[in-house]
Amino acid sequence: MKFATKVIHAGIEPDPSTGAVMTPIFQTSTYVQAAPGDHKGYEYARTQNPTRSALEKNLAALENGTDAICFGSGLAAQDAVIKLLKSGDEILSVNDLYGGSYRQMVRVYGQWGLKSRYIDMYNANNVADAIGPDTKLIWIETPTNPMLNIVDIAAVCAIARERGILTCVDNTFASPYLQNPLDLGADIVLHSATKYIGGHSDVVHGCLIVKDSELGARLRFLQNASGAVPGPQDCFLVLRGIKTLHLRVQRACENAEKIAHFLANHPKVSKVYWPGFEHHPNHDIAKKQMRMFGAMVSFDLKDNTIENAYRVLSGTHLFSLAESLGGVESLIGHPASMTHASIPREERLKVGLTDSLIRLSVGVEDVDDLIQDLNNII
Ligand SMILES: *Cc1c(COP(=O)(O)O)cnc(C)c1O
Repeated sequence: MKFATKVIHAGIEPDPSTGAVMTPIFQTSTYVQAAPGDHKGYEYARTQNPTRSALEKNLAALENGTDAICFGSGLAAQDAVIKLLKSGDEILSVNDLYGGSYRQMVRVYGQWGLKSRYIDMYNANNVADAIGPDTKLIWIETPTNPMLNIVDIAAVCAIARERGILTCVDNTFASPYLQNPLDLGADIVLHSATKYIGGHSDVVHGCLIVKDSELGARLRFLQNASGAVPGPQDCFLVLRGIKTLHLRVQRACENAEKIAHFLANHPKVSKVYWPGFEHHPNHDIAKKQMRMFGAMVSFDLKDNTIENAYRVLSGTHLFSLAESLGGVESLIGHPASMTHASIPREERLKVGLTDSLIRLSVGVEDVDDLIQDLNNII
């Protein structure tokens, strides 16, 4: 099945009891048993829920995996991956990691003896050099947030595989429509389905997808044993969002391309970060591993004072100033004070995340209106 068919059909069957075409919201905490142990495969809703199961089958198909395991948020999904490790183990990750991921690794699991190091992975050779004796997990995010750097997934996963190190790719920024890390050698794919997969800014949700059923079973155990499961209504909303994933992401990428070029030609803009530019340092890798270049664009202003950035951030009308990304509506954000406030300022500056950097999540509105909105204020 091709992608556009999978989003509609994979894992989705009409409800056997009623014929309902749309997967019902099974709002129940428990299921009746005819005799002890005699049930229809559902005992207790932390462990199994039919709405969640339909979503998990669909997500597994979208990433070409065997199992998907859903959680109440992207960070709850990350939490389950980290629980595969033990104290003294080390995670190696990118030096402009999503702020919430960094916070959990350092401030939650640091206390339990987990080590983590953040390196420049934009040259895959740096990874081989950085691996230490305790490195047990390589955590890739690509494109990164908000600098839109690109990591060569196939090259880094090959290095990890040779040394028996587990790999997890946070694929939130690309979405399964643009990039499929399991096909490139990754062990685990993570999504914050809050973003493109849900796509309508109305649900917080996360998932993991694997292609090895033994690893899938370990993560399924953690889903039930730790219990950070999503509710059935949220699973329904994510399923509904997925039906238009390919259409939304394609349009948003087309809009982002036009906006990136508009910004690059704007006299008051100093720098534009978007992997579709030929001069982007890892453009060729982006071209190789992504279907399109994504709908996130970051830029810096020539007048790089925080006051000027705040003026732009509060002056747009169609771009709403808000956290998050990946919805049908366009958002504008200030990483230094919003998504990346939990990362120390010196760390931020080292990767080019200045106080005046602005990040756009380009939506599916008419691109001429979006460009005009930016042009009116920049
Ligand atoms: C939002 C986000 C997360 C965290 O997901 P939540 O659903 O907010 O918990 C993780 N990684 C990336 C890249 C994100 O954008």
